[in-house]
Amino acid sequence: MRAWENYIRKVVPYVPGEQPKIADVIKLNTNENPYPPSPKAVEASEHFDYDRLRLYPDPEASLLVEAIADRYALDKNQVFVGVGSDDVIAMAFMTFFNSELPILFPDVSYSFYSVWADLFRIPYKKVELDEEFNIVPESFNVPNGGIIFPNPNAPTSVYLGLDKVEEIIKNNQDSVVMVDEAYIDFGGKSAYELINKYDNLLVIQTYSKSRSMAGMRIGFAMGNAKLIKALNDVKFSYNSYTMNETSLVYGSEAMKDEEYFKECVDKIIATREQAKEKLTALGFTYPDSKANFIFAKHERVQASVIFEELKKRNIFVRYFKQPRIDNYLRITVGTDAQMDKLFEALEEIISNN
Ligand SMILES: *Cc1c(COP(=O)(O)O)cnc(C)c1O
Repeated sequence: MRAWENYIRKVVPYVPGEQPKIADVIKLNTNENPYPPSPKAVEASEHFDYDRLRLYPDPEASLLVEAIADRYALDKNQVFVGVGSDDVIAMAFMTFFNSELPILFPDVSYSFYSVWADLFRIPYKKVELDEEFNIVPESFNVPNGGIIFPNPNAPTSVYLGLDKVEEIIKNNQDSVVMVDEAYIDFGGKSAYELINKYDNLLVIQTYSKSRSMAGMRIGFAMGNAKLIKALNDVKFSYNSYTMNETSLVYGSEAMKDEEYFKECVDKIIATREQAKEKLTALGFTYPDSKANFIFAKHERVQASVIFEELKKRNIFVRYFKQPRIDNYLRITVGTDAQMDKLFEALEEIISNN
């Protein structure tokens, strides 16, 4: 072993869902939106002035920040943007989680949280969800160096009412509380309206799910001006130009297209509600989803078996071999046509096993 090998940062990386390279797959494994990005973003791409790529982009990302601020009726100093919410959350961990006390997040949650905590040497403790996978607000009432949870939670799909979210923020005013709202647009109520009431609240959202632009990599945080300035200070100490010119232009256009956004979200919600009924008929149970995915287990057939059988038929869903959830499948809500194919396959798999 070479001496320098002792000085490599030791990390166990997050494993993202598979992006299969074969054609004709039904991809219900990473919670992407089955519908295309806003036609306004597509139109902006058609008129994009490629000479702009010679120049550095605006380091303040003003075009995008202003479009987001307008949409949420905020001041532009209350909005921070990053390269997907993963970048925003990583930056927020670096900025706000510097206490000696452990940060807290649910035991069943987005598995990237512990990866970032390890990467940045942040101590952490997991708090338990109840039997039905609900977040228990009181479980956060212990000394901590910060709090993060997704709402709705992933991969469980369970939504926590805004009154309970507020309870967590209110009871932890000495810590920054981050609400990761990757799925909030599919039926939940965002906590962003509380940012003027609580200076310790940071709400994080993304273009990757409800806005059909996972490939563009845009995420954003909403919080009071002091939190946003702290985030920008860290960003400008790390990489001034996180947002490329195309994200600024397409992202700001997409944010202005409220009508198309609502139309897509409503279609996904309608498909989800139908899927719930069909899953029940096939012998699946699941917590009530307010996200664009359903977290389901079958009364008889093992999740791992269904997962492999679906894969053989080129249908990809997500399976986590983890405590408490190793008999569940996380199924992204696709188009009605994709879901029909999924249910055809599920019927066959269940009757054969
Ligand atoms: C998808 C997801 C993210 C990350 O999304 P980006 O594509 O990086 O914006 C963050 N948190 C949760 C809970 C997610 O499911």
